[in-house]
Parts: sequence; structure tokens; C-alpha cells
Amino acid sequence: MHRRDFLKFTGLASGTLVLGGAAAAGYMSGADKTGNTGWGRAPYAKDQFFNRKPFFVTTPTYEKVGTPQRIQYLDNLFRRNGELGMHIRSLGEGGLESVKGEGISSLPQELKAYYTEHPSAFEEFFLTRESAKQQRERWPEHRNQYLLAEAWSKAHASPLKGREAYPPQPQGPPEEWDFEGVNPDPLKLKSPQHGSELIKKITHTFGATLVGVTAIKEEWVYQGILRGVGKTNFAKPAHWKNAIVFAIPHEWESFYANPTYGTSYEAYTMLRFIAGKLETFIREIGFSSRSHVPPNSYDLIIPPLAIDAGLGEQGRHGVVITPELGANTRLAAVSTDMPLEPDKPVDLGIMKFCNKCKICAEECPSGAISFDDKPTKVVRGYRRWCTDQDKCFKAWNQVATSSARGCRVCLAVCPYSRKNNWIHTFARELDPRDPTGFTASTMLAMQKQFFDYPGGSQYLPPPDGNNKTYGKAPDWLRTEEWFDF
Ligand code: SF4
Ligand code: SF4
Repeated sequence: MHRRDFLKFTGLASGTLVLGGAAAAGYMSGADKTGNTGWGRAPYAKDQFFNRKPFFVTTPTYEKVGTPQRIQYLDNLFRRNGELGMHIRSLGEGGLESVKGEGISSLPQELKAYYTEHPSAFEEFFLTRESAKQQRERWPEHRNQYLLAEAWSKAHASPLKGREAYPPQPQGPPEEWDFEGVNPDPLKLKSPQHGSELIKKITHTFGATLVGVTAIKEEWVYQGILRGVGKTNFAKPAHWKNAIVFAIPHEWESFYANPTYGTSYEAYTMLRFIAGKLETFIREIGFSSRSHVPPNSYDLIIPPLAIDAGLGEQGRHGVVITPELGANTRLAAVSTDMPLEPDKPVDLGIMKFCNKCKICAEECPSGAISFDDKPTKVVRGYRRWCTDQDKCFKAWNQVATSSARGCRVCLAVCPYSRKNNWIHTFARELDPRDPTGFTASTMLAMQKQFFDYPGGSQYLPPPDGNNKTYGKAPDWLRTEEWFDF
């Protein structure tokens, strides 16, 4: 549709009136708790509302600008920090000071190569250690205030601590582990379409809100480490043909109360249960399977797979935004050789919207998110928005809560992370169909007008900030409502 046609069709003046008038109603219905999406219990996710069909495209909206390269395991912040931490511990008492003093040149070969290329990440590691130390020292000041938030976060993290992880970690090469317990006498699947339809329904019954299917490209496979094998360079196993990618949201009220009341583990552990059940189901019907789950049990990078599977697009904050859940989209995947019909990627105008909207960058307490007008960084052959992981991780170690640490402010403030009420549904349906950019500009202006933003550093404890949260914490996480202290 051309610009003129669109304006004729909608009528600029009436559009302005409708959007302006709707703003007040949208604001009021925003207070309605039942509007949160992703937790509906209608069969097969029938209560999800966004129709992707008009936006199917042949190529995903991320931009390929060179020869794609696979992600090296040291590119992953937690694996990198774990590796450096292990090296420091191997040196015994005084290891930290010695590595800090002697610098990058004293490190084992792989770490040396990584940090020589990324010296600021090396510095951030020590700044983060220092922040974490201060956070631990400061915790007695905060522990009463955040008693419930801390207990709730620890409860969600508990399935991953000190016990067998679920699903079990691979205990051998993919050619063996992924086929463990596979039904040796499977029935013939009628077609890949039947396969996709069935597996989506099953994944929804296990608790997923969104499910998509895509073929696995080699460039989305980690390099340098393979779970069940160890450190190795390897080609994509032939049976890693398709990925079932699925998403759930965080519990919405604690999510809006980031950074001090939310916890990533709440969604992580639920995703692990969905993945483990799906892994078993697929083996039972005769195909190989392997879970790829947060916080760090991956052999695949999931966000680009989610984009390929048409769940959404990448936002400025680096996280996949979906029309149903916005940036409150937590992802996991299961790889399989089951024949499946892939979904198509979508272009919903999200990346274009991010060019104008910089709310997440303005609100980020660590300055980790780019303010550039367009993505400029090329990472492993793709131009993309790129957050500074090390700066971000330092902020996790600065906010008031300790073991529940994390931030997620960028996800909560994102205008796409809004409720399933009619005004937001209307805006989300209209914007991707509007080539003029008028709807996006109006939505953005409304967003800034109607929602309060404390501003970056305010989310940190004094003296830098005031322990602000984006939204108000739910009463069941406000310790003062239930305990005297
Ligand atoms: S999680 Fe927090 S610190 Fe990290 S990028 Fe988002 S807003 Fe910034
Ligand atoms: S807050 Fe704005 S710029 Fe950031 S990801 Fe969301 S839409 Fe994009």
C-alpha cells in the first residue's frame, strides 16, 4: 500500500482522533490485571491474538553483511566469566589480585586471545567483582525490605542449584545422547505439516505460550564447546535439522517491578520443564531430541532461531520482541531430526520502531544499550543491535537485591511489553500496516506522555540512585505488607 492510499484509507484526522481518544481508555484499561498476555489457559493458545500471516517475509529482518561465523563459547558472558573464574581459583589465594595485576598477557591462550580483542570486557570483569562484593556488604541494609522478593527468586532458582538439573545435561556426543531412549519402532509421520501442527499443540499443552518451528542454520550453532563432549570444534551434527522454539512470559506484575522484584529464574525454570517434557515426548514418538535451555545449557543461540521461526524481531535491547508478549519473551528450544514444516520469519516493523524509540537506552542503568539511530555493529556477519554484556552484568551486581540479582529494566520499559487490551491490540495491528510511520510516532509520543520513567541511574541504590522500580511491586512481594520490620 502506498503512502497516499494509506492516508486515504485511514484518514489522518480521524486516525489522530481515534488514537488520541483511545489513549485515555488505554491508560485506564492498563490497570486491568486480566489484560496481561501469555498466561491464558485457552486450549492450544487460542487466546493469543496476533495474526502473523500478512507479515510473512522470505528473509528475516536481521541484516547479513558478511560471511556469518558461529558463536565462540567465550562470546557468552557466563561461560567467559566462568572460565576466567576457574583460572583465578586454580591459582589459589591471591589469584584474583595476581591476574588483575599481571593483566591479559598472563592468561591461558584462549582467554588471552579473547580479552586481547575485547580489553574492556577484562576490565568490566574486575569492576563487576567489586560491585558484587559491595552488593553483598550492602545486603543487610536491604534484606528486610526485599525479604519476599529474595525468597521468591531463590525458590525459582532452586531447581538448578545443588541438585540434578532438569532436563538432564547431555552425557555424551549428540550422535549418542540425542538418540537415548528413542522409540526403535516408530510409526510413519503423515507429513512434515502434520509434524509441525502436532508438535506445536503438544508444546502448548506443556505450558508454552508461543511456539514456532525452523530449520537450524549452521551459523546458529555454538562453536568451541559442545555439551556432553567438552571443548571442541565441531560441525553441525547432521541430525540437528529442525528446532522447535518456544516462549513464555515472566509473571507480569513482578516483571514490571524490575529490577529489584523480578527474577529471570522464574521463567527459566518453567522453560526447562517444558523443554524436558518435549525432549522426552519427541524421543517416545521416534525422533532424536536435545533441549537448549536457560540459563546456560545451550548448543544453539536461540534468539535468531526465534526470529527465523517467525516469533518476532530483535529489539534495540538485543532481546526478541513478539507481538503477543513484547519484550517479556523468554525463549528455549529443542533440536530434532523430526520432519517439520518450518514457519516463516515476520517483518512487523519492530526494528524500524526501535530506530525512533530509545526508551530502553535512556532507562538502562549501566549505559549498555546503544543510542545510535540505526544498528551499526557487525557481529559474526550480521548487523545488529548489540548491548554491552559486561556493563549490563555489572548493573546486575549493583541493584539492591543480591542472589535474586538481575535487571531487565530494558524489557519492562519497552513499549511492546504491554497488555492485551484493545488499545494496545489496535496499535500493534495498525503499526505494521502503516508505511508512513505515523502510527509509530503517535504510539511513541503516547508512551512517553502516559508512562513515568525514573531514568537510568535511579534504579541503582544510593548514592547513585534510589532503588526505583519501573512499576509498583505487587502486594505479595512487598515485605512491608506482611511483616513488621
Ligand atoms: S538488563 Fe538492565 S543493565 Fe542490562 S541492558 Fe537491560 S536495562 Fe541495561
Ligand atoms: S524500548 Fe524502544 S528502542 Fe528499546 S527495544 Fe523497545 S521499542 Fe525498541
